[in-house]
Amino acid sequence: MKNRKLSVEEVLPLILSAAGALGVLPFAVMRFMNGEVALGVLDSIIVVGLILLGTYVYRTGRVRIASVLITFICLAGVLSTVYIKGPGQVYWVFPAMMASFYLLRIHEAIGACLLVTVALIPPLVAVLDVFSLATIVITLLVTSSFAYAFATVSRNQRDKLMKLATRDALTGAGNRWALQRKLKEIISAQSRNALPSSMLLIDLDHFKRVNDAYGHAVGDQILVNLTEIINLRIRVTDSLYRIGGEEFVVVVEGQDLDKANHLAEQLRTLVEANELAPMHPVTISLGVAELAQGETAENWLRRADDALYRAKRAGRNATSVAFA
Ligand code: GH3
Ligand code: MG
Ligand code: MG
Repeated sequence: MKNRKLSVEEVLPLILSAAGALGVLPFAVMRFMNGEVALGVLDSIIVVGLILLGTYVYRTGRVRIASVLITFICLAGVLSTVYIKGPGQVYWVFPAMMASFYLLRIHEAIGACLLVTVALIPPLVAVLDVFSLATIVITLLVTSSFAYAFATVSRNQRDKLMKLATRDALTGAGNRWALQRKLKEIISAQSRNALPSSMLLIDLDHFKRVNDAYGHAVGDQILVNLTEIINLRIRVTDSLYRIGGEEFVVVVEGQDLDKANHLAEQLRTLVEANELAPMHPVTISLGVAELAQGETAENWLRRADDALYRAKRAGRNATSVAFA
């Protein structure tokens, strides 16, 4: 069994598949005991399917396809039960529909719930009066609307929290935590991935002087402008992080030391040519390091930092590459 922390995305399908399997299991047993073989088989398929999918999520961390299948099993299962057994089973449709809003994308869940509601009408219309049928359809729609509202609000909050937790408020670049996560991700993919990865550690030169001369607000604006310049130049697969007051990291995925060094020089000359602060030339120094085989994130960063130190020692407005 893999020993890893479960992500927020994995917890929901795990809980819902476990709750579904545990909820249906007693009924599977009772159906067989009552000699209702068709329903017993159906309930068993639901239980086994949910257990398999939950196990798949737990072992692989892959959520999307399992979530779609869990929802499909739940909705198709409850629908079939109503078709086989009649309107008494309609209670099962409520939790299954609610679950779909947490497992699927919102528009998919709306589509699935509307489809199930419509599909429920034929088996019910034959045995129920109009009033009872309308009550079922309307309560299903109301329940779906609540689930829709809760799912949308919690998704928006999660996105906002994620942004707050991973972004630097001033520049919008990734923060130190996001960098650590990125480096871990790259290092764990290193064995599967034949491509190299590099990082650029960037530090503004004599930034204290700029702050002292023009004030902190101008200094802040320079940090924002620098972020824009870097973001405009790097590729979509590269990512920018602010890891200290005036220190940034660009992670260049799929590029070796030579290419990363080339990018570093481009950024350095771009910043030099851009008048980030009027009256005062602003320059950057860069240390470039390619991830070595089996290296830790700390070591990779340390080598980039050593290279940056050499660039500063060489007189600033310079790029230096790390030793292997
Ligand atoms: P060096 O070329 O050696 O890097 O010199 P430096 O002055 O840039 O380096 P030092 O580490 O001595 O000072 C960093 C300065 O960066 C200190 C502070 O004035 C400035 N700084 C750090 N964080 C911020 C920030 O969030 N906003 C602004 N405006 N300035 C900052
Ligand atoms: Mg500096
Ligand atoms: Mg610094």
